[in-house]
Amino acid sequence: MSSQLPEATDAPVRTDFIRQIVREDLASGKHGAIKTRFPPEPNGYLHIGHAKAICLDFGIAAEFGGVCNLRLDDTNPAREDPEYVRAIQDDVRWLGFDWHSLRHASDYFGVYYLACEKLIKDGKAFVCDLSQEQVREYRGTLTEPGRNSPFRERSVEENLDLFRRMRAGEFPDGARTLRARIDMQSGNMNLRDPALYRIKHVEHQNTGSEWPIYPMYDMAHALGDAIEGITHSLCTLEFEDHRPLYDWCVDNVDLAGHPELLEPLATKGLPKEAAKPRQIEFSRLNFNYLVMSKRKLMQLVTDKLVDGWDDPRMPTLQGIRRRGYTASALKLMVERVGISKQNSLLDISILEGALRDDLDAHAPRRMAVLDPLKVVLANLDAAHTEMLRFSNHPKDEAQGMRDIPFGRELWIEREDFEEVPPKGFKRLTLGGEVRLRGAGIIRCDEAIKDADGRVTELRCTLDLESRPGMEGANRKVKGTIHWVSARHAVAAEVRLYDRLFRVPDPDSDADGKTFVDHLNPDSRKVVTAYVEPEAARAAPEQSFQFERLGYFVADRYDHRPDAPVFNRSVSLRDTWAQKG
Ligand code: ATP
Ligand code: MG
Repeated sequence: MSSQLPEATDAPVRTDFIRQIVREDLASGKHGAIKTRFPPEPNGYLHIGHAKAICLDFGIAAEFGGVCNLRLDDTNPAREDPEYVRAIQDDVRWLGFDWHSLRHASDYFGVYYLACEKLIKDGKAFVCDLSQEQVREYRGTLTEPGRNSPFRERSVEENLDLFRRMRAGEFPDGARTLRARIDMQSGNMNLRDPALYRIKHVEHQNTGSEWPIYPMYDMAHALGDAIEGITHSLCTLEFEDHRPLYDWCVDNVDLAGHPELLEPLATKGLPKEAAKPRQIEFSRLNFNYLVMSKRKLMQLVTDKLVDGWDDPRMPTLQGIRRRGYTASALKLMVERVGISKQNSLLDISILEGALRDDLDAHAPRRMAVLDPLKVVLANLDAAHTEMLRFSNHPKDEAQGMRDIPFGRELWIEREDFEEVPPKGFKRLTLGGEVRLRGAGIIRCDEAIKDADGRVTELRCTLDLESRPGMEGANRKVKGTIHWVSARHAVAAEVRLYDRLFRVPDPDSDADGKTFVDHLNPDSRKVVTAYVEPEAARAAPEQSFQFERLGYFVADRYDHRPDAPVFNRSVSLRDTWAQKG
């Protein structure tokens, strides 16, 4: 069976506890091949936390030669917006994964129903008439055992009859539930006769009005895994306490041993491959300076505090993708975070650092000026134009070279000039020199000001002996600044994004404040910048390092070469660490 193990590669062998379990299960022959699933509820957009689950579910399957299903967990007859479903599929593909089979929990409603009839016949489920409130009362607490429902001893015949009538739509919402008959004394609250089915006369997006009853999550999830032949069902830690119920459902229904329960799959054209899955929990991904619950993200969208689910400040995958996060940066982050059984709040610098490292290695360099100040090189002809050769990436020759136009009038960053330089200032000052990146050394002779005393233009002299290829090209000056040619540069809208929240823990409700009170008012600033022509020619979603400024991406939706739009993905360094 060890032939199932993946071929040796140069990649480091990951030895986290989940992969260790998978390895052992393949080596022992427990499974000939592994199968996983990613089961999002299509009630919102996926976020960075889901990226971790996706990387594990799909990544581990691929690593060990197995497959992974995408299952839309639509057991709630709520609006499964096709918009969400589309975005979920887009996100999974963007991360570089593809599903073996696309499933819906609702594909299995017929099986769930038969499974519950079987439980009733086996004396393991009963129809209960207690109201929700009474059920809560009977359930007991963490320190007190629960009490049996007065309906627990109903006969199999009566239970079957009532369940069939529930299914036929004879009773109003909430009138009855089907409950598992497990143990009201159990120390694990999840085992105190949990509900398996509830009555809800609501149309379902996929099954219409076919079902007036809907399965509860724990049963549906466990049996869904079994139906699909999932071998390793990976989920987050909050389900650890549910695992006994998960196993109870799988074992007591025993789909593998009762293929007749799988009959309804035939009408859906689905294979009957049931097996016994194993649930394994791992810690949720949480970062400071973010909120990640769908409910809160939904509130940001509906209250128009952001521009939508794909606002580049949102932690949704659609948002951070638009921000300029790459799939490889997210995978790198997941890799660095690792897998554990300990929930923790991670520092956002881990996420931002992964993006910086990924873009530093891969993003081509460009020059752009965000806050332009005019420089006139008085000793060049007005018509002077030349093309200067620049490498696209200092550490990656394969990225080749490009030409940048250079002329008499340039834009430099306003902050790269100081009339009264603070101590240690290494850039341009009146009478001082600075190197223009790749073009030569200039001296500032005069600062021209407007009526308010604001500098509007710098008159400078280019040292012709310091130009590339000239004898004085290596002459030392303290600073090097970037620039673009005023005549050739393209005006671009640049959206300077920053963290959406200004405090590390926006979720804490101290002082009666909510997360909305902690929004960073400076999380977006829009400026008109000048970019070198080659940057304007970018394709949407192409990432760059704008030298000395940070990493930027051509906006996925709004960027056009004749009207460029760039989003700042992340600054070059962690400026928040310095603030703190
Ligand atoms: P939220 O609480 O943000 O709404 P959820 O858990 O309800 O998320 P689901 O759509 O049910 O979202 O999740 C699909 C899968 O993604 C589940 O297996 C879940 O455990 C996993 N997942 C969700 N959030 C995270 C997270 N922060 N870190 C890791 N995995 C997560
Ligand atoms: Mg959920």
